[in-house]
Amino acid sequence: MARRVLRVRGTVQGVGFRPFVYRTALELGLRGGVWNDADGVVIDAEGTAEALDALACRIREAPPPRARVEAVEAVEAAPASLGPFAIRASDDGAPASARVSPDLAPCATCLAELEDPRDRRFGYPFTNCTDCGPRYSIVRDVPYDRPRTTMAAFTMCPACQGEYDDPRSRRFHAQPNACPACGPRLESALEAAIAALREGAIVAVKGVGGFHLACDARSAGAVRRLRERKNRPHKPFAVMFPDLGAVAREAEVDGREAAALQGSRRPIVLLRRKTGTTLASEVAPGLRELGAFLPGTPLHHLLLRGFEGPLVMTSGNRSEEPIAAANEEALERLGGIADLFLLHDRDIHMRADDSVTRVELGRERVVRRARGHVPEAIPLGFEAPPLLAVGADLKNALCLTTGDAAILSQHVGDLEHFEAQRFFGEVRENLERLFRVAPTLAAHDLHPGYHSTALARRTGLPLQGVQHHHAHIAACLADNGRRERVIGVAWDGTGYGDDGSVWGGEFLVADLAGFERLGRIRPVALPGGDAAVREPWRMALSHLVAAGLPTTSVGQPGRTTVEAMIRDGIGSVPTSSAGRLFDAVASLVGLRHVATYEGQAAIELEAVSDEDEDEAYRVPVSALELDPRPLIQAVALDLSRGLSLGVIGGRVHRGLALAIGQVCRGIREHTGLEVVALSGGCFQNRLLTRLAEQHLRADGFEVLLHSRVPAGDGGIALGQAAVAAWRTRG
Ligand code: ZN
Ligand code: ZN
Ligand code: FE
Repeated sequence: MARRVLRVRGTVQGVGFRPFVYRTALELGLRGGVWNDADGVVIDAEGTAEALDALACRIREAPPPRARVEAVEAVEAAPASLGPFAIRASDDGAPASARVSPDLAPCATCLAELEDPRDRRFGYPFTNCTDCGPRYSIVRDVPYDRPRTTMAAFTMCPACQGEYDDPRSRRFHAQPNACPACGPRLESALEAAIAALREGAIVAVKGVGGFHLACDARSAGAVRRLRERKNRPHKPFAVMFPDLGAVAREAEVDGREAAALQGSRRPIVLLRRKTGTTLASEVAPGLRELGAFLPGTPLHHLLLRGFEGPLVMTSGNRSEEPIAAANEEALERLGGIADLFLLHDRDIHMRADDSVTRVELGRERVVRRARGHVPEAIPLGFEAPPLLAVGADLKNALCLTTGDAAILSQHVGDLEHFEAQRFFGEVRENLERLFRVAPTLAAHDLHPGYHSTALARRTGLPLQGVQHHHAHIAACLADNGRRERVIGVAWDGTGYGDDGSVWGGEFLVADLAGFERLGRIRPVALPGGDAAVREPWRMALSHLVAAGLPTTSVGQPGRTTVEAMIRDGIGSVPTSSAGRLFDAVASLVGLRHVATYEGQAAIELEAVSDEDEDEAYRVPVSALELDPRPLIQAVALDLSRGLSLGVIGGRVHRGLALAIGQVCRGIREHTGLEVVALSGGCFQNRLLTRLAEQHLRADGFEVLLHSRVPAGDGGIALGQAAVAAWRTRG
């Protein structure tokens, strides 16, 4: 007889782990017990050495589907004639690294019950089990137990309590376990909401991570009304479909995309639209992609099944504010937008938007990281001091480190809004509590005017500044579990350079410790700073002036003033931004002169570009500087010849991708480095990314792309955390 204490770390609470251990232990003839503590799961087991080995092996190799085992440590103990194997109550002892599970979409078994008229949960919108249901959004503290969730307000009925206490039940210790007799309830009729949607109304629906604003995706009038009331003229809306077949009627869906749509994370997946579909064109104007998702909760299932068609489901907020989550808050903030509210009485402790992903180059890649992903840890591969990284101002997310894990928060939003700054504080406090992290350092962007930098200063912690594009490349390294020196191509809209100018088309040699800027896009003037970001025509003007071309084709009022600013260098800092170069081309070809959301011009240019165009505009490179002037000249010439936008756009993308390859080859000659990391918002452009990856790979480079965190500023906190942690590690 031997006795061993096993400690299992990772996402092992709220995923049916203890019942799994219980069943396995009984099967192997072991005695002892299993319980949760603040670090994960502890097993005290007694039996033959073979059975104990087999238990550890099964935990590592065949854990429950939603569990993520990070480590299993075994310590021999003195045999003590333990009693029959049992599941014990949680041990509330202090230090914590147990991973709270992300929210999980309904499992097939729960959905089958939902549809079964003989089941006591038939049509019950809050059904769940140990394999599915809300987690991160309802957990107030660890260990994960019902009294520390927003389900504490509901007392289980005898039938639910029986399931909860029965180790053979799939609801054994399912903390949000509930039924129509004892659990949360809708506060308004589902049928009324469905009827209103059919008549073109806008309905605010309370989901897992917050409210959605829903309307009929096939009704141009309803979608237009939603755009007007939300003050969101063009930014695409996501569409929720009743089932996979309905998605496939509107968009191309391959096997990986189907898996992403149906997975327990249940993200919005960006798909290629089919032509001649039935959705209102107002859903995603000017775009080739459609953000589609499947119902992520039993309530959404019932809603979509009742409506029998696709619904626009967009975050319940005004423009870029955080998503609304509390009933009173939603009634107040969304009162002027929604005609009707579908409310329920289960509180949302932690809000999280929907995640957005797309499948590209063989993998699902996260574009916006939120519900279903957070608070999953990203291993850094080295022991980090506890720290806070505050991210950037746009698409903000923050990051904490504990041990060797980085915990990147959900999408917080645009820190220009006071609401988003307040949300930042909520998210930070919540993650610090759930992971028991007391940061000793705050990492931030070098931009002195960023709200995030001010938030870092306000912590009173020692500060560590990390350059924006260095953070992008470090995020890409951490995303790939790497930390060697690489060639980093950091292309985005805007980032504060260490020389005070605006960067955004950078070629670095970087590792976590530091970076050197070896190449860039030849700078042009950024006339009017932020105004040039909102008004791509200003960048068209700037690039025309730089290329020595006539500017009379720019028809915007204010052209002469802005042109004077560019020529005299007044109110115009130089920028090497790639994002602004795409903006300039989009305006030059007449596609978009004024943007209503971030990146719009570049996104619309990509949408019209021919992917199969095989010619490329020449983009000469000298001394590792990429010169866009001949490209601008060629675009102007081809426009005057009447060439199609598709061909011009295709040649622009291909030309820039080839130039990326050329600069990287140049850097390889100097440094011998053969790994290239592609990061920054421009690498959310799938055409540019695909072409650059192809050329680089054909040239013998290994190419690192993002997958778990966004290539854009939503991933930057992870890079800041990795750099600051590496520089200050013990
Ligand atoms: Zn379930
Ligand atoms: Zn019940
Ligand atoms: Fe950036």
